[in-house]
Amino acid sequence: MSNDNVDAYIEKFATELLPPDDFMFPFPPYEIQRDFMGELYMALEKKKLAIFESPTGTGKSLSLICGAFSWLRDHEEREVCQLQAALKNIEEENLALANEEAAGGDWLSTQVKQVATNNIKFAIRKQLDAICKEEKRISEIRTRIRSKEENRKEYRKNKSLTALDEDSSESGPIEDSELILEDDTNDENEEENDEGDDVEPPVKIIFCSRTHSQLAQFIGEIQRTTFNNSFRVVPMGSRQNCCVNKAVKNLKSLSLMNEKCLDMVKSTEKSKTKDESGKVTKKSKSSKSCPFLKNTQALKESIVSEVMDLEEIVKKGEALGGCPYYATRGATADSQVIVVPYNILLHKSTRESSQLKIKNSIIIVDEAHNLLETVSHIHSSEVSGRQLSQALSQLVQYKSKYVKLFSSSNLLSINQVIFVLKSLIKFLDGKSSVSEAEKVKPDTTLYTVSEFILSAGIDNYNLFKIVEFCRKNKISHKIRCFAEKYPGLNITPKTAPPKKPGIKSFLQEIAQEKNKKKKGREEILETPKSDNETPPIEGQPLIPTLAFLECLTMSYKEGRIVVSKQATLGNSSVKYLLLDPASVMKEIVQEARSVILAGGTMKPFSEFRDRLFLACGADESRIVDFSCGHVIPKENILPLVVPVGPTGQTLEFTFQKRNDPALIGELGRLLVNVCNIVPAGVVCFFPSYDYENRIYQFLEDDGLLKRIASKKKIFREPKTSSQVDVVLKEYADSARRKPGGALMFSVVGGKLSEGLNFSDDLGRCVVVVGMPYPNLTSPELKEKLKFLNDTVGPHAGQEYYENCCMKAVNQCIGRAVRHKNDFATVLLLDRRYQATNHVQLLPKWISASLQIQNKFGPVLGLLGKFFRDRR
Ligand code: SF4
Repeated sequence: MSNDNVDAYIEKFATELLPPDDFMFPFPPYEIQRDFMGELYMALEKKKLAIFESPTGTGKSLSLICGAFSWLRDHEEREVCQLQAALKNIEEENLALANEEAAGGDWLSTQVKQVATNNIKFAIRKQLDAICKEEKRISEIRTRIRSKEENRKEYRKNKSLTALDEDSSESGPIEDSELILEDDTNDENEEENDEGDDVEPPVKIIFCSRTHSQLAQFIGEIQRTTFNNSFRVVPMGSRQNCCVNKAVKNLKSLSLMNEKCLDMVKSTEKSKTKDESGKVTKKSKSSKSCPFLKNTQALKESIVSEVMDLEEIVKKGEALGGCPYYATRGATADSQVIVVPYNILLHKSTRESSQLKIKNSIIIVDEAHNLLETVSHIHSSEVSGRQLSQALSQLVQYKSKYVKLFSSSNLLSINQVIFVLKSLIKFLDGKSSVSEAEKVKPDTTLYTVSEFILSAGIDNYNLFKIVEFCRKNKISHKIRCFAEKYPGLNITPKTAPPKKPGIKSFLQEIAQEKNKKKKGREEILETPKSDNETPPIEGQPLIPTLAFLECLTMSYKEGRIVVSKQATLGNSSVKYLLLDPASVMKEIVQEARSVILAGGTMKPFSEFRDRLFLACGADESRIVDFSCGHVIPKENILPLVVPVGPTGQTLEFTFQKRNDPALIGELGRLLVNVCNIVPAGVVCFFPSYDYENRIYQFLEDDGLLKRIASKKKIFREPKTSSQVDVVLKEYADSARRKPGGALMFSVVGGKLSEGLNFSDDLGRCVVVVGMPYPNLTSPELKEKLKFLNDTVGPHAGQEYYENCCMKAVNQCIGRAVRHKNDFATVLLLDRRYQATNHVQLLPKWISASLQIQNKFGPVLGLLGKFFRDRR
């Protein structure tokens, strides 16, 4: 009996699910929340690709959880009911056949039918038994873990963390034998296993968001619901977030952590003795293995028994002495919900190495407003000429140290890597430094991947094999250990003459090789004329170098290489750019049961519909969208387009006009007026740091800044992330101080424009100065627009350009008004905001109340009334 026949039989008993009356929301939901959950439930039931827009502060996460978890619960129950109904029916059919035979029917044909029905019955019973067995197993794990939890304090006393910490540090110095490439590069580690299972996997929810703190918040929301007690939720992270072994954690670079950990796992595997059947019989103690691997199973069971965020799992891992990284990976098989950051889901090779299975899953991407840009960003990679030179320097020294110990095939591979790096350096017109007189105009050129590979002269090499060789041999890790073991060799090769260190000597080497083969182009290959010191090696130059090479193997059609040739090699760079994110999202869209893109401001929906779902080959009938209003009353938000300033000057901050002193002065006077009327905090967004700086300087010189400062304390967005918290705290204190408040000069797309919360007094007015269009002179943007015009349609590039701008504006607007009792005003300062196409790209809850005031007086009147009414 084939699986198809059984499936077809069971399918006859399928029922369609309808949204429940009670979504187990932790409190009575608002109408918009009920609508959201109902729409989501049906989108999952009907296997849709959906775009969900729900403004911040409307309980989006809880709505996602209750809608999706309710559906999964009902779906699992339905599966059991369906099997039971099918079993009951087939038993009745069997009985009827037996009666037919007993009544003297055709025994032969009855027998044939009975064999068939028995086979179906057997297959259905097997499926039901498997479900019961699985439920029993999970329930036993939970009982066991709960009883263990009660003894946890005792356990901690006996198995102190300190002992593990001491164990975990690397014992002994690095041995040369550890640095040599091994022949067996086909060695499989557990990250590379692929079961290749044909059976349809059970439906799981894969929830994905941008940052770990957003994921932790999401898990916190699950813990608030009744699903907390019944669902198995497993968060995943990189080793950077999960590792508890200090010796590995301290490596800082994720790539190095990965390679070091894999080395330790391999050591553990090697220390196991297996009997003839392959069963592990004995483990010898390996000084290089990770001590946290041994209690991973206990931690895994704990994860399956209780909903925890990654931080809680890491703490538990430290307490139990188990590895959170491998425990979470192991627990995904038993999970119903997997919670992952963007890169684990969206980056194909990370997804594969994490064994995250997409087939039949429900993918929910939160904060999806910038999904396409994020996918492009994740799959892009840049390496500078300095990094290439330093990586080459390290590799050549490494090779010369161990050349006699390498097998011929490893030597060949490492020579190939060296050749490729030399070729890339040569392609960047390798000059490590030049005098002022020699400086040439920087030059940026775009290539397709195949053009680049040909132009750089690396077309004779199989880059897939080279990348695979580096990955499997953990080259970055070996080079790091090599540099650590022989610090003196790190920059200057032993063979190099004393006055020609690092880059120079290798450039000379390239030049000499080239000269041997062919005369000419000496001007490119000659060593730099200036004798500046070669800078020390910073970080791990091989890591971005290999990441770039890996990108070259990814996608030929949709990738471009931006080659930036500067006056010196060190400042030159090559960058892989992924133009079409749909090319890497295809697998997700095609294999998942449903894909839900959720965000506070998802406008324009067409971007996701056309450039993602349809571009991935989805049928139009599968795509749905849903936009819900805000929980705040309409009257609590006052959005205004302000086309003119206090003296009637037109506000138009185009690139050509925005430096006009009259315009900047008008802006200053406008801000003085706004700060006079608006209480508490005002956040003013500028299109760029440069422009913010220019305005600030102008207002300072003009005395207008002083007038503003007499009303509100002025803050400026810091450029470095480390200062954000300090500045924000001071701003918050000042904004809440009465009378007065604070004004924050901020930048669109900067540190404060996304993810930060300017609720209540922190943001009573959001001002957006001008329209933040991306820089049209950028070769990368030009290429992207051209690509869209060529592939999607003649206006696609322009649409994308407009969308980029308005999406950035929407993010700024979304910083204020964060909950139902909040209230704020929004001022869009540019006459171009009046255009219908721009108004249409605003969130519905803004465009519905938007007012366009052609005179500035009424703007002040409306602002004054708005805040008087809310005193
Ligand atoms: S096994 Fe786990 S704890 Fe040990 S090094 Fe790897 S990630 Fe870290």
